[in-house]
Amino acid sequence: MLRQCPLLLPQDLQGRVYDGFISIQEKDFRLRVILPTDLQLRNAKIQCSWQLKKALQGYQQIVKQRLQHSPNLVSFMMELKTVLEVALKNANELQTPPAPQYYCCLVKDIESLGWDKLSFVDTEFSTIKLKIEDSSGREHLITLKLNAKYPNEAPDCCVDFPVPFAVTWTPQSSLQNIHNQLSATLESLKHFWDALDEIDEKTWVLEPEKPTRSATIRRIAIGNNVSVTIDVDPRHPTMLPECYFLGAEHVVNPLRDKLNYNIHLWDPENGLLQNLKDVLEIEFPSRSNLEKSDFSMDCGICYAYRLDSAIPDQVCDDPRCGQPFHQACLYEWLRGLPSSRQSFNIIYGECPYCSKPITLKMSNKKS
Ligand SMILES: [Zn+2]
Ligand SMILES: [Zn+2]
Repeated sequence: MLRQCPLLLPQDLQGRVYDGFISIQEKDFRLRVILPTDLQLRNAKIQCSWQLKKALQGYQQIVKQRLQHSPNLVSFMMELKTVLEVALKNANELQTPPAPQYYCCLVKDIESLGWDKLSFVDTEFSTIKLKIEDSSGREHLITLKLNAKYPNEAPDCCVDFPVPFAVTWTPQSSLQNIHNQLSATLESLKHFWDALDEIDEKTWVLEPEKPTRSATIRRIAIGNNVSVTIDVDPRHPTMLPECYFLGAEHVVNPLRDKLNYNIHLWDPENGLLQNLKDVLEIEFPSRSNLEKSDFSMDCGICYAYRLDSAIPDQVCDDPRCGQPFHQACLYEWLRGLPSSRQSFNIIYGECPYCSKPITLKMSNKKS
């Protein structure tokens, strides 16, 4: 049937399912083509063995496009063969092992840096993890990916920094140069990490649950169902950060007012946490006397904290209630109420907890 692909055979009478192999460079790759009921090739599903999938990695778009434009299965199979040939050829070129001087040079480099500064090196000597302690005693792990052209080309540095890091590199550079550059960047970020470490230690950070070293945002609990999210500038960590309050209006509005009135009290000499306390005139609840469950930030409808990636950011404004809800949960709830009404993107109804009026403004923002 398919003269050009003798290894691909129809599996049913309608000619909808083909199963078999595509062979290239004396290698056979298993695949199965399933046509839709209208037998339109462009809607066909191609199931590949994992070897074929791996070989075509990065070429999926091209394959898809060829599938759209091929007049019939035979010509598609010819196109697929060409794509596969190119993909395999390119993969071979990438896998050329480095020359012996690569290892020579690298081992010499590591020796002059000191093996004790390495926390890991893989068997191919292509991935190295450096361990660097900053002057506040925080340990940082930096992954270097070297390619076969080292030291003519700079290694890729994977860092967990809140700022971009690009290594300055010449063919004469060495691991010691990278180490120096990394140490300098770590030092420049010391005050940022000091400030955030203090917040992580002395307040209740609700989000992120496990902050990485690159995370600039913290949502800090202020009280039951009230929190402030700060976004700290890594270059100016003791300046007033952006603050977003979350909670019932009667609690949050006075905090916003305090922030406006007291802004002149902000003193970069005093550190981030102390300034937040001074300006907002509050003490943040601390980990020593409260449990995380004391803040009960869970949604009052689904009883969960996370819904997809959303957090319960809709709050009942009644002073005695203050119950938070997910926007999606509250929307479903209010829509189901016979007494609720909608005007443009605002829904008016009653709080599921206290039955006081509640309004929900629908936003399409992704959170
Ligand atoms: Zn919910
Ligand atoms: Zn309520």
